[in-house]
Amino acid sequence: MNENNKNIAFIGLGNMGGPMAANLVRAGFTVVAYDLSEAMLRRAADAGCRRVASAHEAVEGADVVVSMLPNGEAVRTLYLGARGLLQTMGPETLLIECSTIAASDARQIIAAASQRNIAALDAPVSGGTAAAAAGTLSFMCGGDAQALERARPVLAAMGANIFHAGPAGSGQVAKICNNMLLAIHMIGTAEALQMGVDNGLDPKVLSEIMCASSGGNWSLEKYNPYPGVMENVPASHDYEGGFSVALMLKDLGLAMDTAAGSASSTPLGALAKNLYQLHGGDPVNRQLDFSSIQNLFRRPVGN
Ligand code: NAD
Repeated sequence: MNENNKNIAFIGLGNMGGPMAANLVRAGFTVVAYDLSEAMLRRAADAGCRRVASAHEAVEGADVVVSMLPNGEAVRTLYLGARGLLQTMGPETLLIECSTIAASDARQIIAAASQRNIAALDAPVSGGTAAAAAGTLSFMCGGDAQALERARPVLAAMGANIFHAGPAGSGQVAKICNNMLLAIHMIGTAEALQMGVDNGLDPKVLSEIMCASSGGNWSLEKYNPYPGVMENVPASHDYEGGFSVALMLKDLGLAMDTAAGSASSTPLGALAKNLYQLHGGDPVNRQLDFSSIQNLFRRPVGN
């Protein structure tokens, strides 16, 4: 570990941020943690973080600030404006923003940071909560190469793959391309599994066959949406935890905005957003893991 990176402020300790902060502690960093939620603060303290009462308190004396918040509005409010954290952070601080937000928001925050001589990266992640816990996330970084080199030891304590996608905002573009594709293959996997089950197949056997065939994909192999096929996935735990339908809908909205901005044709992305909207129309479903889209295809018992 580089001694210049030792003290880390971590803001946002939810499904992803909590285990990421815990891995930083395990790697020997000193982590000062802040979240709006008392339950998340308690969990972070149990993992060895020092909890504080405000984000401003967290960044005092920090070498590195990492944030993992739900959306762009939360990130903009946290950093920008007269009461924003950029006003409190010292010029030697490195900012690593890991939330999934619009590339334009990331560029705005990185530009504002740079005006205060603060080095900053957008570094959204892929891999889900299991990879966050295992420290095997993929980081997709946007920003200058020097900032990335400084961030590398911190990122390496939380992830297995670190990519430099390009200048500020590029990490977010890569992330949103990835998540649009994820939504598409999750829905395709769910409908294929259901068709097999409706025709008398055991979803475990069908999954094994498709994993070894040309239908194999991450949703099928690592995050199977059919309950009971895999043990350690949300589908086998009433779709609790994981990556919520609400967050997937946010990402698909970002994907559609990105496509509109570049006049790209994304018909399957648009359909995926439409299907998730239908599924998320029920507020209970919005809080479930995104693999619960399986329920859109399942028939009520007896039909
Ligand atoms: P989450 O809702 O579980 O956690 C977000 C946390 O941020 C919550 O604990 C909330 O209390 C806290 N928070 C919100 N506003 C805050 C503020 N102003 N100050 C301090 N804390 C604040 O969400 P998550 O699943 O951990 O996702 C976080 C980000 O990571 C999102 O942008 C999401 O799109 C992205 N992501 C999630 C996954 C996943 O599998 N869950 C995977 C990749 C990327």
